[in-house]
Amino acid sequence: MKAARIHEFGGPEVLRYEDVADPKPRKDQVLIRVKACAMNHIDLWIRGGLTGVKLPHIIGSDIAGEVVEVGEYVTSVKAGQRVLLAPMHFCNHCVACTSGRQNQCREFTVLGNGVDGGNCELMAVPEVNVIPIPDSLGFNEAASVPLVFVTAFHMLTGRASIRPGQTVLVLGANSGVGIAAIQVAKLFQATVIATAGDDHKAQRARELGADFVIDHYKQKIGDEARKITAKEGVDIVVEHVGAATWNESMKALKPGGTLVTCGATTGHSVSVDLRFLFSKQYNLLGSYMGTMGELHEVLRHVFHGKLKAVVDRTFPLNEIRAAHEHMERSQMFGKIVLNP
Ligand SMILES: [Zn+2]
Repeated sequence: MKAARIHEFGGPEVLRYEDVADPKPRKDQVLIRVKACAMNHIDLWIRGGLTGVKLPHIIGSDIAGEVVEVGEYVTSVKAGQRVLLAPMHFCNHCVACTSGRQNQCREFTVLGNGVDGGNCELMAVPEVNVIPIPDSLGFNEAASVPLVFVTAFHMLTGRASIRPGQTVLVLGANSGVGIAAIQVAKLFQATVIATAGDDHKAQRARELGADFVIDHYKQKIGDEARKITAKEGVDIVVEHVGAATWNESMKALKPGGTLVTCGATTGHSVSVDLRFLFSKQYNLLGSYMGTMGELHEVLRHVFHGKLKAVVDRTFPLNEIRAAHEHMERSQMFGKIVLNP
């Protein structure tokens, strides 16, 4: 099969489109023909060098395609079915996995990170990862869903315990997690304040359901959020930007409010003033991907059309270097999808 692999870490030039041996599915696995693989920021970090990545390596976490064949022990899907893949790898038998907390498994990793991913034509994966999709959902849209929607759903429900009608500040409305978080928050009839970097992105954020949009280049996020909430502050902040926005995100919180973070795109070192942490009784929560149960739950809303994937643009897999360069310029609104 054809695959895009890296043999060394570095810039887009280390991505090589080449011939690789076809994967051989085990008796408990499903062979998938990849039709679409959406990109995530983690793709750029892996390409640049992440510990635990064995070379040569195939990147790509968000995959949709068709079942080619199933192993002898597989009962829930059959050849020809249209599916997407749960973007995670876990042992499926430890205490964490069997109690539904796959993202706390010691073997937990994202597809395309600790194990090979979907920037290729064929993949062999465990049956538990394979989830049928309705005919109404295109492959590019299906591939754009899993990672960001399970991440946003886990942040808001599993971690921040969102309640109907709360006020939620979503950083970076144009990012995959931002797009998902705005929509998930609206499922709970939240008042959503989003941040965006220009008028076009602000308009797109409103179309997704944001009630207010702050320009994060021209305005102070914390001050604006307090103004919008009549000085009260917000119940929940969805953070993934990191160092560049951390202080403003903290300022936006109401007493007893929750800041939940799943990333640190602009830097991972921040400071916390403990006097405010204890006197305002803030909750600072970490969040990483989500559970299989949350993935199935959020997908139900996607399959019913209540939550929508946003595709920025597609590239053929053999133009993966251009796709990485496009993502590095970070001008997109929505997902970049590779088609093998
Ligand atoms: Zn496990």
